[in-house]
Amino acid sequence: MTTNRTFTMIKPDAVAENHIGGILHMIEQGGFRVVELQKVALTAARAGEFYAVHRERPFYNDLVAYMSSGPIVAAVLEKDNAVADFRALIGATNPANAEEGTIRKKYAKSIEANAVHGSDSDENAGIEAEFFFGK
Ligand code: ATP
Ligand code: MG
Repeated sequence: MTTNRTFTMIKPDAVAENHIGGILHMIEQGGFRVVELQKVALTAARAGEFYAVHRERPFYNDLVAYMSSGPIVAAVLEKDNAVADFRALIGATNPANAEEGTIRKKYAKSIEANAVHGSDSDENAGIEAEFFFGK
């Protein structure tokens, strides 16, 4: 089933460099509607839980430290085909491989500090939205 929602975070590097507005502008220009929005600091424990799927990867500890190094902006976005279209809008994980016109091409600094997160499936979009906005 394809749903019309995805989940994103603007990561600490992009928030620290005052790119919240620029990134939200690209998101809205890309045809997404912002359904939920929250600026929040993740503890290392919460960042670790969010990225638990990567806990066996060599970059996990660095990723958790980075994601808890400063506030992030979490959002739920709505658009037809939201998950796939948003992955296309953000571009490749490594900004060196990201296409022109993508958010990571414009704002990402490295493979780790890559400006934004985007859900990789409808199922995870729901889980991640719940993680931040579930009551
Ligand atoms: P995200 O899940 O944040 O949208 P992604 O789906 O493009 O990113 P994943 O493979 O899920 O990529 O990796 C999650 C995050 O872990 C990346 O966005 C990046 O911040 C970090 N990361 C991934 N690979 C590496 C690596 N080789 N070295 C350092 N950090 C990495
Ligand atoms: Mg991912």
